[in-house]
Amino acid sequence: MAKKYVYFFGEGKADGRADMKNLLGGKGANLAEMTNLGIPVPPGFTITTEVCTLYYKNNRKYPPELKKQVENSLDRVEKIMKKEFGGSDNPLLVSVRSGARSSMPGMMETVLNVGLTTKTIPGLIKKTNNPRFVYDAYRRLLMMYSDVVMEKAAGIEPEDGLGIRHKLEHAMEKVKKEKGYANDIDLSVEDLVKLCDAFKAVIKETLGKAFPDNHYDQLWGAIGAVFQSWMGKRAVSYRRIEKIPEEWGTAVNVQSMVFGNTGDNSATGVAFTRNPATGENVFFGEWLPNAQGEDVVAGIRTPNPVNKAGKTADTKHLSSLEEAMPKLYKQLFAIQRKLENHYRDMQDIEFTIEDGRLWMLQTRVGKRNGQAAIRMAVEMAKSRLITRELAVLRVKPEQLDELLHPSVDPAGEKKAVELAKGLPAGPGGAVGKVVFTADDAEAWAKKGQKVVLVRNETSPEDVHGMHAAEAILTAKGGMTSHAALVARGWGKCCIVGCSALDINLRAKEIRVNGSTVKEGDWITLNGTKGRVYAGKLPLLPADPEHNLRYKELMKWADTMRTLGVRTNADTPNDARTARSFGAEGIGLCRTEHMFFEADRIKSVREMILSEEVDGRRKALAKLLPMQKGDFIGIFREMKGLPVTIRLLDPPLHEFLPHTDDELKELARDMGVSFEALKAKNQSLHEFNPMLGHRGCRLGVTYPEIYEMQVQAIMEAACELTKQRVKVIPEIMIPLVGHVNELAKMRSLTVSIAEETMKKCKVKIAYTVGTMIELPRACVTSAQIATQADFYSFGTNDLTQTVYGLSRDDAGRFLPFYVENGILKEDPFISIDTEGVGAFMRLAVEHGRKVKKGLKMGICGEHGGEPKSVEFCHSIGLDYVSCSPYRVPIARFAAAQAALKGKGGKK
Ligand code: PEP
Ligand code: MG
Repeated sequence: MAKKYVYFFGEGKADGRADMKNLLGGKGANLAEMTNLGIPVPPGFTITTEVCTLYYKNNRKYPPELKKQVENSLDRVEKIMKKEFGGSDNPLLVSVRSGARSSMPGMMETVLNVGLTTKTIPGLIKKTNNPRFVYDAYRRLLMMYSDVVMEKAAGIEPEDGLGIRHKLEHAMEKVKKEKGYANDIDLSVEDLVKLCDAFKAVIKETLGKAFPDNHYDQLWGAIGAVFQSWMGKRAVSYRRIEKIPEEWGTAVNVQSMVFGNTGDNSATGVAFTRNPATGENVFFGEWLPNAQGEDVVAGIRTPNPVNKAGKTADTKHLSSLEEAMPKLYKQLFAIQRKLENHYRDMQDIEFTIEDGRLWMLQTRVGKRNGQAAIRMAVEMAKSRLITRELAVLRVKPEQLDELLHPSVDPAGEKKAVELAKGLPAGPGGAVGKVVFTADDAEAWAKKGQKVVLVRNETSPEDVHGMHAAEAILTAKGGMTSHAALVARGWGKCCIVGCSALDINLRAKEIRVNGSTVKEGDWITLNGTKGRVYAGKLPLLPADPEHNLRYKELMKWADTMRTLGVRTNADTPNDARTARSFGAEGIGLCRTEHMFFEADRIKSVREMILSEEVDGRRKALAKLLPMQKGDFIGIFREMKGLPVTIRLLDPPLHEFLPHTDDELKELARDMGVSFEALKAKNQSLHEFNPMLGHRGCRLGVTYPEIYEMQVQAIMEAACELTKQRVKVIPEIMIPLVGHVNELAKMRSLTVSIAEETMKKCKVKIAYTVGTMIELPRACVTSAQIATQADFYSFGTNDLTQTVYGLSRDDAGRFLPFYVENGILKEDPFISIDTEGVGAFMRLAVEHGRKVKKGLKMGICGEHGGEPKSVEFCHSIGLDYVSCSPYRVPIARFAAAQAALKGKGGKK
């Protein structure tokens, strides 16, 4: 028997099913499924994705059996519809549409009304008694066909505005203008007849070929165009980004046309089985009497609400389908229920009513926003349409973001002027007036102004301004740059690496893609998408606390996950926020952030610039009580949950004075000469500070720094223990590359800890572990593990060092890599599982061989990114740690990882 390339559907029976998406594409499989469910679907057939693959394999030739199979199926459609394709009495018209396995928005090609020719037109006019409708259908065919088949599929790439579609639209606008018409519907039959002739002339002149007047030529032309579109520029680049394999191919659906524009007894509409914006369980949609599907979508006419429940203040005067055609509405209502119950998910449907008869043209899983996704998942689980597990899997972790941060109102965003794109470092939306310095940000905010701080990059000295600003925008830097880390920690909207910004600090203005934005001008940031807009767009508020469905879903998720979720927090405030989001401990407390406060930075500088140990000790003694106070605050907030405190890590130069004035003041305080201090300052300059004197290398060379920090941690712990507050300190040594470094720092830590506890007469269980953030540490994990009570993967530095990519500078070229498909994703956002991940896997395996069950977590920025969380689960980590606002996302992603069932701790 010949291979089956064509699958028929019609009159309650289909060759295909919903689970045949690979062969029939999403659309074809669903049309078959609806037909089998007894839902009225215009008959038709699907040419399989296999044909697409063969077409390209065989030098753009179809398999020989195809022609016969298409003709046979067309015969069956003719019989059902009692019409003839190409016939002069009662002609059948068909639509030709693409349909890949997964939806590929923007590349779908469609040609409607195929089969209208000078031979069939008179027949259709006689049959419908509606010449206006026929010529309107013809002009639509001329437009679509010449655009999709004769231009795009032929590989013609006209300049902007010179494409055939544009030319035809222009011709139509001209007629409307001449006649003083406002809408397409005002065009008379005579106008349309003339317009169709004019269209044909423009097509011939522009494309050098006549529009085909034979129904079969039209059909095969349209089928070919759909297959051609699979290799079109747009489709190829979309596939590369989405990693859709070329072999998948697209299917082609050929289906009998039904018309919603044959008169007042006809209509068309799109609807959702639940409200996609709120999730409310009400049938929701729009319809237009006497119209074709594209009219609803294109917004040429304002559509009416499909039912009374969907009316708003703006649409209350419009007639709903429920009121205008109550019987048909009832039928549609029953069908949409049936579809949702069958697919067990909210469906997005298209329907057409032709002369009082309802037809379903499409069903697919409907897109929804975060609010709606949560509501639907919870309500469907409660009504037992789906399980709780499926409810948790249904919501994308990123969608929780929409609840946790205010967001830019999508309606306003659609109309906004986009200034530039950057990396989406801190999610949510924000509006504010542009300021260029941290001091201005603070001063303006104090006066009650909302500001956005715009910088080339930020440094620790900018934190006061960053804190005061609504949002932060930088021209440079990547996803782990200072601005990104700090903003994310606060849950603040932030865009980094926005390289199109040309910031002129003197003139206090930004030049960006041809516009100029001055100090005080309003801008809007969409930190979730990394988009910057001119002006002040409306925001939607965040309110997770009052969202009971969200809380319930999170509760379900928590029972399903095995991975712990901690937070990265440096202050009692952050710790409190994180606990309220469900953090189960602190996975990273970066102590250096405590050193930047105004009353401390001087002592820190004194310590660094002292030539002698004694000088350093003197300065450290001033810092000790302050550090101790910090730790008391954090331990207290975490109320008996584990707190991992990392000893000092960043390159010392970050703390150095920048100006002579600062140096002079410091020299005076320290009682040394300005020249000597300046020389010392210069001597500390490093060419590559990120790979220089930082991390445990500081502890090894200046042990007194770590001694002071351990003493502060343990004194704080002892004091609270005496007050009966439970504390679990975990002391962490950063940037270890060699076991000897860790051994030395461990012994220093233990000796100071023991000494402090003895002095305080308190015994506390504490642990000493290390960050794993260098490739050498991963490779020698079997040695390192002997000296560590726990590991925490610092994947920011590990990505930097495994990849040889500077985390501070990669923002200049990584976006290009991602846009051009060289990298699927920025490795500072989502763990590079093949490279960086391989090192992590090695470290886990070798470490646990030496110490069974060795506790391991991650505290790099990836700890709050869903795909990375899934990876951490799969390699058997115990917990992830992330900034407070990402804790719910991590909890949720951890549940999904467990439900997907790969890996987990052995
Ligand atoms: C890391 O490197 O992943 C890390 C958490 O440390 P930091 O970002 O402070 O270098
Ligand atoms: Mg690090």
